[in-house]
Amino acid sequence: MTRSGVGHDGAGHDGAGHDGVDRDGVHANLIAGAWRAGVEALRDDDPSDLDTPVGDYAVATPEDVRDAIAAAQEAFPVWSGTNPKRRAEALDAIGAELLARADELGRLLSREEGKTLAEGVGEARRAGELFRYYAAEAFRNAGELLPGFRDGVEVEVRRHPIGVVGVITPWNFPLAIPAWKIAPALAYGNTVVFKPAELVPACAWALAEIVARAGLPDGAFNLVMGPGETVGAALVDDTRLAGVTFTGSAAVGRRVAAVATGHMTRVQLELGGKNPLVVLDDADVGVAVECAVQGAYFSTGQRCTASSRLIVTRGIEPRFSRALAERVAALRVGHALDPDTQIGPVIDEAQLQSDLDWVAAARAEGAHAAVLGEVVERRTRGHYLTPTLFVDTDNAMRINREEVFGPVATVIPAHDYDEALALANDTPYGLVAGIVTTSLRHAAHFRAHAQAGMVMVNLPTAGMDYHAPFGGTKASSYGTREQGTYAKEFFTYAKASYVRAGD
Ligand code: NAD
Repeated sequence: MTRSGVGHDGAGHDGAGHDGVDRDGVHANLIAGAWRAGVEALRDDDPSDLDTPVGDYAVATPEDVRDAIAAAQEAFPVWSGTNPKRRAEALDAIGAELLARADELGRLLSREEGKTLAEGVGEARRAGELFRYYAAEAFRNAGELLPGFRDGVEVEVRRHPIGVVGVITPWNFPLAIPAWKIAPALAYGNTVVFKPAELVPACAWALAEIVARAGLPDGAFNLVMGPGETVGAALVDDTRLAGVTFTGSAAVGRRVAAVATGHMTRVQLELGGKNPLVVLDDADVGVAVECAVQGAYFSTGQRCTASSRLIVTRGIEPRFSRALAERVAALRVGHALDPDTQIGPVIDEAQLQSDLDWVAAARAEGAHAAVLGEVVERRTRGHYLTPTLFVDTDNAMRINREEVFGPVATVIPAHDYDEALALANDTPYGLVAGIVTTSLRHAAHFRAHAQAGMVMVNLPTAGMDYHAPFGGTKASSYGTREQGTYAKEFFTYAKASYVRAGD
């Protein structure tokens, strides 16, 4: 949506109303503590109901991005100088509001992203819990006192915030991923410029509106919405950023890292996955099928942690594939807000086409579809795609090398545990790996030897705890871990002070 003559019309700060919405109903960006209308706006579609858009959201200009960074820079000495109690109270208030409004925000999330209402509400709750967790972390930013080499000299190690942090997020977790980046950034005393994915501005805006009322100094938190190629690029390109924390595709992540490291900006990347779920002969078939269905198909398979490769030993493979195919064929695809829906729509037309292309490419490579997904119609116009399960595939096929990011999974047969482990590790990615087995020996060996940042035993590959480190190996991640106390490694630097006591 392009608009003209909107913006700077004097309705509140910089053309947007005090409630952050201008007189055309366009939601504004948040810069230096004020809502700023845009010259252009993007329409936010509901993938379950394309005829009822979620709303219109202003596109930030490069000048808006520069102003947001300047504001964050100005706010940094103020916010980093506040005591942890004040920071904790602000984060706690944000977390409490997210939790209190989880039903409403979860519904908004399900509308714009397409995951089921239960998943949307669960994610909104998770975002609230993350803010509350990091509220307490503000108090736990302890240092160390080391004995020095020299008599009478002590070495004190303290953690300091790094400065202005750029937060760039993908569309598939529109509240949880921003929360797990913004909450620790603020808790440790950094200031933030947040660039959400252009497909999900509504959740980002709702979060910003809550943060804007939490008593932070003006400019400590800024929201700049719009496309990655313009708004995201302007952010990453700015040498005033101390750090960029990015979650998204491997291709864009590489570009972000090249630009940011070019001017010595600290970078943290969380990228794609091609996650294996190994099923051994001794597994409980019911548990294995449940892990596969949840890991591969829930959230429409649009998860970096999705189990897209099901590596199954030969003794159990026919039984497992048959039972899984039955389950997959029965999954109900529909409107995200419909209580009967198990799989919501695909996010947009481009992703739907990409999913269909992957299915066609896999069939052309000789993969056999035990369940073949197809585009289906529902009572409202949306991007509805039923799930696909390929069986008897080979790990060398392209469908098993690259991330699909849709409701598509493959079964790859293996002779034994050793071959299954080798296949699991034969991928450029290394986010998460799962195993379903009743053998303690194999589970222990897998935990030690799976080349992944996270390992699941008798559990789906998706679904992590926020106090544990999140991230991967190989092409899945770059830089330090997210979440838990591990987030401190990115959002702070260690300063060692050498102190000689007076005589
Ligand atoms: P994407 O890479 O297209 O976009 C991610 C973000 O980067 C968006 O905000 C986008 O606007 C921005 N962007 C795009 N071009 C940019 C540029 N040149 N400079 C700066 N920013 C730019 O990813 P997506 O389609 O939104 O999300 C799906 C991807 O995210 C999948 O690959 C998925 O695996 C990955 N993902 C990873 C994790 C993880 O933690 N490992 C979690 C969720 C999603």
